Amino acid sequence: MPELPEVETVRTGAEPHLVGRRVTELEFARDDLRWPIPIDELRTLRGRTCTAVTRRSKYLLLHFGGRDRPVALVHLGMSGRFAIDVQNRRVPPPEWRKHEHWRLHLPGRLVRYTDPRRFGALGYATAATLATHPWLTALGQEPLEPEFDGAFLHRVSRRKKCSIKSLLMDGRLLVGVGNIYASESCWLASVRPRRAAKSLKIKECDALASAVQQVLRSAIAAGGTSFRDFAGVDEGAGYFARELNVYERDGEACRRCGVTVRRTVEVGRSTYWCAGCQV
Ligand SMILES: [Zn+2]
Repeated sequence: MPELPEVETVRTGAEPHLVGRRVTELEFARDDLRWPIPIDELRTLRGRTCTAVTRRSKYLLLHFGGRDRPVALVHLGMSGRFAIDVQNRRVPPPEWRKHEHWRLHLPGRLVRYTDPRRFGALGYATAATLATHPWLTALGQEPLEPEFDGAFLHRVSRRKKCSIKSLLMDGRLLVGVGNIYASESCWLASVRPRRAAKSLKIKECDALASAVQQVLRSAIAAGGTSFRDFAGVDEGAGYFARELNVYERDGEACRRCGVTVRRTVEVGRSTYWCAGCQV
């Protein structure tokens, strides 16, 4: 499943192909994915120039110029792939691929969205309605923005009954920290994931916020290297695996202290941690 680092990798890969180009055509092979696709509204993108490709949580936001400054919202769901074909203009667009659901044509570029499981989404907003779009309103803090720091974690954890790991994974508070990154961040910050979130001291919050950012940035950097030639997501790509310190390393020696890494299961999700150096 694409997580924040993968989506950010797609964003940085797509940006130079889309920004400054004008949409010449949109094609839809179906009228819904996870939710109905607002096809009539999206067709108004024809003739508009893409002005920016940004990201909010795991949504790619394609911004366009002109009246109302529309925005296309793209979510990759479980298995979505936002790929860009670099085309010679004289060659007609290739055949639809299996599980390809929509296309965006720009001069010399063809964006192809494929999604076998169809949990992805394609939506529409304008610059004025984007902030209140229902997909975005309940989203928590972006972890890579300056507002996310130890003070933020300390503040939001005070009245919580949940564990540190659950706090990190609560998308209403903080977006983008999935199961792998939560275990890795706790290890890096030397805190036990199952400890009560409200027991975190301010210094631990500082360490944990830095750890979250470091883990996500490493994953983005690794993704960027693997995907440098195209904008897309390879399902199951193991590009970050070599950098994992505890995730799926149960039974192996901790890289920091040598004690055996443990695995515990909470609500069906595995947590990996070291009893030797995480307190
Ligand atoms: Zn250890």
